[in-house]
Amino acid sequence: MTSTIKQLSILLAEGKASSVELSRDYLGRIQALNHTLNAFVTVDPDKTLAEAAAADARRATGQADALTGVPIAHKDIFCAEGWLTTCGSKMLSNFVSPYDAHVIERFKAAGMPCLGKTNMDEFAMGSSNETSFFGPVKNPWDTARVPGGSSGGSAACVAARLAPAATGTDTGGSIRQPAALCGITGLKPTYGVVSRYGMIAFASSLDQGGPMARTAEDCALLLNVMAGFDARDSTSLEREKEDYTRDLAKPLAGLRIGLPREFFGAGLSGDTAKAVEEAIAQYRKLGAETVEVGLPNSRLSVAAYYVLAPAEASSNLSRFDGVRYGYRTPEYKDLTDMYEKTRAEGFGAEVKRRIMIGTYVLSHGYYDAYYIQAQRLRRLIANDFAEAFKVCDVILGPTAPTTAFKLGEKADDPVQMYLSDIYTIAVNLAGLPGMSLPCGFDGQGLPIGLQLIGDYFGEAKMLNVAHQYQLATDWHTRAPKGI
Ligand code: GLN
Repeated sequence: MTSTIKQLSILLAEGKASSVELSRDYLGRIQALNHTLNAFVTVDPDKTLAEAAAADARRATGQADALTGVPIAHKDIFCAEGWLTTCGSKMLSNFVSPYDAHVIERFKAAGMPCLGKTNMDEFAMGSSNETSFFGPVKNPWDTARVPGGSSGGSAACVAARLAPAATGTDTGGSIRQPAALCGITGLKPTYGVVSRYGMIAFASSLDQGGPMARTAEDCALLLNVMAGFDARDSTSLEREKEDYTRDLAKPLAGLRIGLPREFFGAGLSGDTAKAVEEAIAQYRKLGAETVEVGLPNSRLSVAAYYVLAPAEASSNLSRFDGVRYGYRTPEYKDLTDMYEKTRAEGFGAEVKRRIMIGTYVLSHGYYDAYYIQAQRLRRLIANDFAEAFKVCDVILGPTAPTTAFKLGEKADDPVQMYLSDIYTIAVNLAGLPGMSLPCGFDGQGLPIGLQLIGDYFGEAKMLNVAHQYQLATDWHTRAPKGI
């Protein structure tokens, strides 16, 4: 069970395995390992196997697409018809979605059975998966450690081979950081490339769905399914359809890699710095040149993000009022009491903290001082990238400052937790594509992630750069012990 999406699609095309067989194998592994890892909130083998049987029937009629029959897990932030869709929250712990997110529609249209819904930080707020109402996910490399967040369940299930791939979402790093901490490959597309329709909103101007898999090649194949215009998301971009695999095989000779000096300073752990340096050396061997670039305003990205993201979250989460769907407090005096108790009981501490901060920074008298200032910083941060991309094709650095930390280690210190995304957040503020891929291990055998950042719509280039590295190295093929 070490197959990539690519390998599974070949097995299916050659008739060497059926979708039902593959799905059964993964469901068996989920049954054996999920109680240890807690990567899934919901599994429903009957549903999965019915979808797999339909994929096999489709293939039998000669109507299969490239990935028809390959099973995939979905982050529990994507509404999927008939599936419990919780977003990691008590607030939605009883919500069965009546419709499919655009991303889910795309995977269904491709004939890819859903293996289950993966655990996540509550409303995607977190970097350790410890804020989930359904309990923390454990890192398959060391179950005393966090898998990263917020797409921690997706990262852990791919790392533990409970699914060949999974969807994730990234508002400030939630695809790339857990991919790094779990030793897999994950990609956040340019803002607007993947529709947010049916993807439960956290911070709408930053949220973006993307693939999490073992390899860059798999991410390219999955992005081919996920990406595309959708009129129901007003920020979805109307662009011509791309084949994200088209540049995978290009040699890297002459490629200019930008190294931001701000990404290699204090705060970066020694093992991570060393692994990233070795990756740079590997790229030079592959014919790439490196150039130093400056992202001077990126040091302000965490501060700007923790004004903007809570502001948007406070507005988005106002819909959870106990009236329309989700949790409602059992006993209340009147309507106001019902609202208050429902929200007090339905949301966890981190979500409440963000709603309070967001409401504060948007309130009269503080709006100019905080929200507008943060928007200005956002522009400066985006301008830095625009300058950098004048002299390089892709930017490279670490994904996260450290490898997977212990469960509970940062749980009481929100600022320490927020700093886990110090290298990823600026990318969301600028709306750029970014990805993380495995580039080594620390002294304790924990995976280290390498981050690539592309220019707008530079996904195919970034995937090319990642794929060539994965052809030359084998970090992405390593599996946790006992897996
Ligand atoms: N860790 C960041 C946060 O808590 C990013 C989360 C995300 O990308 N969804 O906001």
